[in-house]
Amino acid sequence: MEKFVPLRVKCPKCKKTLMDPYHTLHDKPSILVDIESNDKKGKMRLCSFYGCYDQKLSIEIEDQAIMKFFCPSCKEELTSKNVCEECDAPMIPLSMEKGGRIYVCSRKGCHKHYLNFENVSDGLRKMYNEFGYF
Ligand SMILES: [Zn+2]
Ligand SMILES: [Zn+2]
Ligand SMILES: [Zn+2]
Repeated sequence: MEKFVPLRVKCPKCKKTLMDPYHTLHDKPSILVDIESNDKKGKMRLCSFYGCYDQKLSIEIEDQAIMKFFCPSCKEELTSKNVCEECDAPMIPLSMEKGGRIYVCSRKGCHKHYLNFENVSDGLRKMYNEFGYF
């Protein structure tokens, strides 16, 4: 577990936090987003450890279905023009409180995700300063 870094993320649109301290995954606040797939709406919680794929869905979603992500605060859809290298689904951007973004694949069952910093060396240095590794 110690190679994993807990991330804190916020909505890229309204900048409100997406962290839910009342529901933890791996003992850390989970990341909470609203989701929609095939006209079904629900909530998804993601583990905040970078590299961990644990998630909890409040509704049943078929494997491989593409989900739409929405901010629980401003209700805006979170989407980007970036597509997943592995499955071509849209990548979902989440802003990190320390700067930069994490992108996660919107297809259920696809584990593709990556970090993106406007200034890579800066972003990595911040992570390093905060966690002492990465
Ligand atoms: Zn928002
Ligand atoms: Zn986890
Ligand atoms: Zn994918």
